[in-house]
Amino acid sequence: MPREYLKKATLTSRSDATETKEIVRGILDDIEAGGDEKALEYARKFDRYDGEILLSEETVAAAAAQVPEQLRKDIEFAHANVKKFAEAQLATVGNFEVEVVPGLIAGQKAIPVHAAGCYVPGGRYSHIASAIMTVTTAKVAGCRNIVAASPPRPGVGVAPAIIYAAHVCGADKIMAMGGVQAVAAMTFGLFGLPKANILVGPGNQFVAEAKRMLFGRVGIDMIAGPTDSLILADKTADPMIVATDLVGQAEHGYNSPVWLVTDDRALAEEVMRLVPPLIEDLPEVNRENATAAWRDYAEVILCADREEMAATSDDYAPEHLTVQAEDLDWWLDRLSCYGSLFLGEETTVAFGDKASGTNHVLPTSGAASYTGGLSVHKYMKIVTWQRATREGAKPVAEATARISRLEGMEGHARTADIRLKKYFPDETFN
Ligand code: NAD
Repeated sequence: MPREYLKKATLTSRSDATETKEIVRGILDDIEAGGDEKALEYARKFDRYDGEILLSEETVAAAAAQVPEQLRKDIEFAHANVKKFAEAQLATVGNFEVEVVPGLIAGQKAIPVHAAGCYVPGGRYSHIASAIMTVTTAKVAGCRNIVAASPPRPGVGVAPAIIYAAHVCGADKIMAMGGVQAVAAMTFGLFGLPKANILVGPGNQFVAEAKRMLFGRVGIDMIAGPTDSLILADKTADPMIVATDLVGQAEHGYNSPVWLVTDDRALAEEVMRLVPPLIEDLPEVNRENATAAWRDYAEVILCADREEMAATSDDYAPEHLTVQAEDLDWWLDRLSCYGSLFLGEETTVAFGDKASGTNHVLPTSGAASYTGGLSVHKYMKIVTWQRATREGAKPVAEATARISRLEGMEGHARTADIRLKKYFPDETFN
């Protein structure tokens, strides 16, 4: 039986971004030419904010005092979990050395970048968790200049919980600025900030486009599009939990796809019946997002068996992938394209989004077919080194000279010749 679409998306999120490109190009050029003043002008225009840009210690302390005690504890809990996971990742970044030929030793070193710019979105929702995910990982990687930037609410400033989270996780500077102007400020080193070596963190289409345009001049983690999620469920899944999880991810945005892939028609039909009333029951903004996402972007796909389900999931390469099915080990072994995998009903995407320790900055729009999400590795440069004894250099120099001459690179060949002549004056080489 081929895949059967019980519900098919009518829109795709890969829309024409020409207008966004033009807007972002204009803002970047303006700010590069006009510096701090231009960035402030855009902050006033887009966020109607005219307050402090780099937050003082007093502002940070005042923000902490505004965060309710339970929320402070929750932020600290999430930070501890993300830190623990990132520290385990750091242990997998290996420095090593190997004797390639007798007398020639080559090695690898992982060196953290000096300055990281962490974008914490804040337009639509207060993304406290994004501050935790980006800043903690940069800190564990060993970055010494970490800037967290987040858009201020008009006239009010950055949400106190975001400031508290960025501070607890180790940001050296917190900047009340959002959008393209924040990305530009971190990249160009405005307001006395160090120029960022890498920009990380999710954001809307303007933020994503700015990162794309600046890539090369500055490193980036990835280009994040609208968040997407896929659930693999078999007959053992609880339809209400599946439906609740789909709705939970559809609230991200009007164009956030959610997909259900199953081999059980009865489960699919029950989930499709349960989703609309669950969406209706959400608060207004969330309801509007989820209604549009479910109507235009969601899909429900019926497969013949679990092998076809897994193949379908790999084709979609979702950002978030959940399995609510028997034999979780089989799925863990079989699946190969996802940003983050949630195995079994007892965990869910929101756990990873907020507090379970794995990172929530993940590849979207199929990018999971070639990359994973944010990790300490993204802040590290994997560099190499070598040194040799004269005996160790000998065979390498001979080969280098011959290969270089064949390539027509006489200057290269002579850098090998001069050493052979100096170290082994009595020998002849060709
Ligand atoms: P945001 O912080 O990304 O963007 C707000 C900024 O957008 C403002 O400061 C403003 O400068 C700029 N802006 C708004 N309108 C503009 C315009 N017309 N021209 C130029 N600039 C303009 O916040 P948001 O808009 O709420 O978007 C957050 C995004 O982050 C969402 O798309 C969400 O899905 C995504 N997100 C993704 C993940 C993930 O891991 N993939 C996690 C959290 C959030």
